[in-house]
Amino acid sequence: MPSNALFYLTRDDMPLVSHADGIYMWDTQGRRYIDGCSGAITCNIGHNHPRVKEAMVRQLDKVAFSYRTQFESQVALDLADRMVELTRGELDKVFFVGSGSEAVESAIKLARQYFVAKGEPQRSRFVSLRPSYHGSTLGALGLTGYEPLEAPYKAITLGSIKVPSPDFYRYEETDIDAHIDAVLKQTESAMLTAGPETLAAFVLEPVGGASTGARMVNQAYLDGIRALCDRFGCLLIMDEVLSGMGRTGEWFAYQHWGVAPDILAMAKGLGSGYYPIAAMMARGDLVETVTDGGGFMHGHTYAGNPLACATGLAVIDAIDEENLIDNTREQGRHLRARLDELADKYGCIGQVRGIGLLQGVELVRDPTTKEPFPADLNAFDILTRLAKQRGLLIYPRRSLNGLRGDHVLITPPLTVTRQQIDDIVELFDDSLA
Ligand code: PMP
Repeated sequence: MPSNALFYLTRDDMPLVSHADGIYMWDTQGRRYIDGCSGAITCNIGHNHPRVKEAMVRQLDKVAFSYRTQFESQVALDLADRMVELTRGELDKVFFVGSGSEAVESAIKLARQYFVAKGEPQRSRFVSLRPSYHGSTLGALGLTGYEPLEAPYKAITLGSIKVPSPDFYRYEETDIDAHIDAVLKQTESAMLTAGPETLAAFVLEPVGGASTGARMVNQAYLDGIRALCDRFGCLLIMDEVLSGMGRTGEWFAYQHWGVAPDILAMAKGLGSGYYPIAAMMARGDLVETVTDGGGFMHGHTYAGNPLACATGLAVIDAIDEENLIDNTREQGRHLRARLDELADKYGCIGQVRGIGLLQGVELVRDPTTKEPFPADLNAFDILTRLAKQRGLLIYPRRSLNGLRGDHVLITPPLTVTRQQIDDIVELFDDSLA
């Protein structure tokens, strides 16, 4: 039975986890579940991966923890070099942390310290999208565009200038260019009103996750935002905590559009559920400005410890050597085609969107008017429970666009096979029925 001593809420019907293998998980009653959402879009290489287990044990046999002010570790140096290669050298400095929120928090601090070191201390404000999710620590929460999460902390969070995120669902295909133009104009005007000389950075997720059900940017939008940042002299931070590490069919989602950020936050897929490791990457010249000014004043105890780095290296090796990025593209296309079939079959699917193995399904009451289900129905929750009863795990969310609208994410591990995609879709179909 779930313990009453746990601080967070667990439901009475919450199963106890027993073990997991590949894309499957079992509870202590012997029921099997297909992990159609990689836990929290985290377990990118699936569960119980032999290579990662072996690498972790090998590192444990040597040393699990060393503190970065006392020792460097070869695994941390190797992992950092490897990650720079993944960005094709566009971002050439790496700072390790332990979670997505810490990675975003580190990005905020680097941006701020950069402008202080550069002699532009007035640049202290951040611009971010609504809806969006950037984490639970007070800095990252301040960037998050979701009213109910922000509300209790408004007086004590960083706060940011919120601008609308592009919404390709509520606008017909033909209106997309006009929609992007309008969103960019609104964004420009908000930045001008705030005072461009006060801006430190613009923060966005190139492909949204929990907050938007895999809403994506497009080329015109990303080019437009990059141009605004350059014109106003502020930095562009991308939050790829969820979309990074191969999930979208590129190592990082921004690579689909060829528009690199100045600072990048990543987390979930880097440790792939085996050990908490996350990172902030940045352009070398930013980091040098800060270090010339006295060093980056930030850090967490567990940051970059050898066990974490050995885990990250083994995960990257697995993705690389098992061609999981190619598999993500191929199975992502298959998943998308199968979900599109379901969208034709069920009126409650308003839109299927996303890229690679990051696919979101928006649920609506009426596909013609795009009217959402009533908020108190919790359609996202009902569908997720029905799927779980059938042995399928999916990731539920109420869309964060002003509390209206529901979506679920279907994001299986990048190791998924075509047959397993078919199994996922069959169970999802049955749940929708
Ligand atoms: N940014 C994004 C885009 C996320 O999806 C999340 C987690 N869902 C976070 C930041 C925060 O990461 P963590 O929960 O590891 O702190």
